[in-house]
Amino acid sequence: MDSVWKDKLLDRFLKYVKTYTESEPGVDEIPSTPQQWDLAKYLKKELEDIGLEDVSIDDHAYVMGYLPSNQERNKLPTIGFIAHFDTSPDFTGKDVKPKIWKDYAGGDVLLNEDKNIVLKTSEFPEIKDMFGQTLITTDGTTLLGADDKAGIAEIVTAVEYLINNPDIPRPRIAVGFTPDEEVGKGAHLFDVEKFGADWAYTMDGSSVGELEYENFNAAGVKLTFQGKMVHPGYAKNKMINALHMAREFAAALPADEVPEKTEGRQGFYHQTAIHGGPDMVTLEMIVRDHDDELFEKRKNFLRQLVQRFNQSYGEERIKLEIKDQYYNMYKMIKDKMHIVDLAKKAMENIDVEPNIKPIRGGTDGAQLSYKGLPCPNIFAGGQNFHSRYEYVTLESMEKATEVIIEIARLSTDKPD
Ligand SMILES: [Zn+2]
Repeated sequence: MDSVWKDKLLDRFLKYVKTYTESEPGVDEIPSTPQQWDLAKYLKKELEDIGLEDVSIDDHAYVMGYLPSNQERNKLPTIGFIAHFDTSPDFTGKDVKPKIWKDYAGGDVLLNEDKNIVLKTSEFPEIKDMFGQTLITTDGTTLLGADDKAGIAEIVTAVEYLINNPDIPRPRIAVGFTPDEEVGKGAHLFDVEKFGADWAYTMDGSSVGELEYENFNAAGVKLTFQGKMVHPGYAKNKMINALHMAREFAAALPADEVPEKTEGRQGFYHQTAIHGGPDMVTLEMIVRDHDDELFEKRKNFLRQLVQRFNQSYGEERIKLEIKDQYYNMYKMIKDKMHIVDLAKKAMENIDVEPNIKPIRGGTDGAQLSYKGLPCPNIFAGGQNFHSRYEYVTLESMEKATEVIIEIARLSTDKPD
């Protein structure tokens, strides 16, 4: 892309990150915070201004728009590109003051002189790879919001580029921007039918080359241990201490199947909270596994363990609630691997090496895939998400923009 387009990409990104859009957990409404409307409305207008059709914003701030195909042929798919405009409540996203380091020299970056906040290569060695690029950081007091405003800037710039370069063949393209991804609700009210895409990509990954189509199966677990309280002085053979019950139960879980000892496709049990006293204890846990069968096995293991404990107490003292949270999108994608292959080929064509790995978490794409819109995830270029050390380079965003354009071009390749 020539410098005019790089400038557009950068200006856009800076405009978006300076707009406050933090979301908030535990709020029933979508969007969870009123400030998200500001960027949503701005994006609607921007999509209209660059010439997309049927641009809309619904009652929950979901923004959609379309770029028609410039091909005569029927049977071309509609391909969607999706990004979220909220930023994580994990770290403040208010008054973001991005700093630009042209021709980054490769060393430590002094984010904030007054507060002595430094992005150190000793802590974040990957930053050395950005040598010579245009580095964009925070001033150390906020997150940056490259997650996922980089994705939005890339999508908007790519469709504008396609409009201005009609020689590049393209299918119909659907663009979707969502609120509240960071609080797990970005896909909740996403109208898949209205979006009308055959498949889509979320532009919400990190390093250049990332391409993801597998994520965890996930369940939340709540265990309640009911003790029996008796005066401790007269408790012999009478008291049952819920604290002991819970501790015994936790000790019966596989000690090596925890987040801190697993990687890749290895699943785990992760205890997230424990509350209570001798009378009653609640123990919360999450269960994760990429493999469907192993996921079921893990949940059954807990059921059997509870049964065994209850049998030994001679009554039902442990209650188990298991709630599935989300599922591995691979199941929805494995019969449509051309979607992944297309993205892979697009990356290779622009000299980006695809880096395919299972996500040890979930994505909006997973939920969308189960709502009938297969939706792998592609890199947006940022690093150190949800923190004051978040950064992105203009060159990474440029690559992501080119991937979108190349996916559009490639998808028209096949004859009917
Ligand atoms: Zn994100």
